[in-house]
Amino acid sequence: PAISGLSLEVKDLRKSFGGVVALGGVDLSVAPGTCAAIVGPNGSGKTTLLNVVGAYYRRDAGAVLLGGRETKGLSPQQIAGEGLGRTFQTPRLLGELTVLDNVLLGAFRRERASLPGTMLRLPGAMAEAERLRAEAMELLAFVGVADRADDLASETPHGHQRLVEIARALMGGARLIMLDEPAAGLSMTELDRLEQLIRRILALGATVVIVEHHLDLVASIASHVTVLDRGVVLASGAPQAVFADAAVMAAYMGE
Ligand code: ADP
Repeated sequence: PAISGLSLEVKDLRKSFGGVVALGGVDLSVAPGTCAAIVGPNGSGKTTLLNVVGAYYRRDAGAVLLGGRETKGLSPQQIAGEGLGRTFQTPRLLGELTVLDNVLLGAFRRERASLPGTMLRLPGAMAEAERLRAEAMELLAFVGVADRADDLASETPHGHQRLVEIARALMGGARLIMLDEPAAGLSMTELDRLEQLIRRILALGATVVIVEHHLDLVASIASHVTVLDRGVVLASGAPQAVFADAAVMAAYMGE
């Protein structure tokens, strides 16, 4: 495979906001190159889990290992450098830049490519800039939005912006990609394309962690699902087994 997927190991992870326990001791284990899903009602701690894994929030206690290495004390940038990429519920692109430039920004995360270096009109730097542009275009084609390369990010539909975020993460050398509700608001056709794209990302060898309410999508692409409820793991296992459990589904639908 083209990408060597990262494993993710989360052990007894805890995070509170004031008196609110968002994560009350969560365990999760994701094998390299597999797709794990995190589901659960609103407020169950799914996004907090992604934010703590990405070091956007500091954990209160517990372990987070990426590719077997403890990430404690690393900054979000350092963790991205280790190969963690993500997309957001509300896409976070620089709206006044083109789609292509947003993908190119991912490269500065990967190589210590200096922005001034590529700006300067040195022959080597120009060749490097061309190489990066070609790679960004390839990734836009991979996610299916190459025709939008020159559009302003702010002028592309939400569904496309999420795909651009995936391209940006891959440009940044992501070996594990966390997708936060990628199916939200997509049409049936777009949903189908997203599913195919996730399969192709897995085929490249990358690991995928998906937070998703769309249980049909989860059942079809995830090999493992973890159900969170009020910050704790209510159930985990193969989607077919977990979704067949009436007690789990009652709690899940109880929102
Ligand atoms: P989910 O993603 O499953 O909807 P969240 O992780 O967003 O759940 O939220 C879990 C709990 O943590 C909720 O009670 C939420 O209000 C709280 N929470 C999340 N982020 C913050 C924050 N930055 N400040 C205070 N409380 C937060």
